[in-house]
Amino acid sequence: MKLNLKLQPLNTWLEIKNEPLLIAGPCSAETEDQLLATAHLLAKTGKVSVLRAGIWKPRTRPGEFEGVGSIGLTWLKRAKEETGLPTAVEVATAKHVEEALAAGVDILWVGARSTVNPFTVQEIADALKGVDIPVLVKNPVNPDIQLWIGALERINNAGITKLGAIHRGFSSYEKTAFRNEPMWELAIQLKTLAPDLPIINDPSHICGNRELIQYVAQKALDLDMQGLMIESHLDPSVAWTDAKQQVTPAALSELMDLLTLRKPEI
Ligand code: PEP
Ligand code: MN
Repeated sequence: MKLNLKLQPLNTWLEIKNEPLLIAGPCSAETEDQLLATAHLLAKTGKVSVLRAGIWKPRTRPGEFEGVGSIGLTWLKRAKEETGLPTAVEVATAKHVEEALAAGVDILWVGARSTVNPFTVQEIADALKGVDIPVLVKNPVNPDIQLWIGALERINNAGITKLGAIHRGFSSYEKTAFRNEPMWELAIQLKTLAPDLPIINDPSHICGNRELIQYVAQKALDLDMQGLMIESHLDPSVAWTDAKQQVTPAALSELMDLLTLRKPEI
């Protein structure tokens, strides 16, 4: 049975510079200079439609960098003013939603660690009532499609119709080449249940390693996913988080040139 979601197509949400939609930017905003420099390089490629950056980043274990916090919103705002790129940020609490909306962020996303928790998702959904903003929901950390669907439904029930899913892979006990197993069948199942729901692939968090990104991104496009979210840092070797999987803006541009869009069947 198909899901009963009220949706608006992706191309009505924002201007898409190139197909597929590309959301790119650092895993974490680190400093204002790092974010602005990365944003300018990404904008110059002409291929990026949205700038992403994490600012609230509790890590798996405490004691390390946990995100710059709300100050990052002012950096994102400046990056948008200087480059014209709309911005996207992860929100995990009602307060994050309120602050991001007040700062003029254009797209919000729910992270994999939040999608697992219906309390958190409902809190975010309640904070979104009466708001017209695109929201993307990452798959939960664990391979449970019902949690993913439930989170999408909660956000949609709050009135968000510019709604999409992000496929970022799933934790697995098995150690493979991937940081998070793609388990493509779960994304395919979601597409079957909600054919009009845009699905964006996040090869960065699936791969955990920049060498594999092209392969995973191509596979996502072959499966008709409508966009990519790829982490990009002006110098990944010194990134404060997810250093191994980030790519420079120049490498991202080359990678996008190597991908082929599936031709519509005639
Ligand atoms: C991120 O996008 O930087 C992030 C923390 O991702 P995820 O929620 O997929 O782990
Ligand atoms: Mn990351």
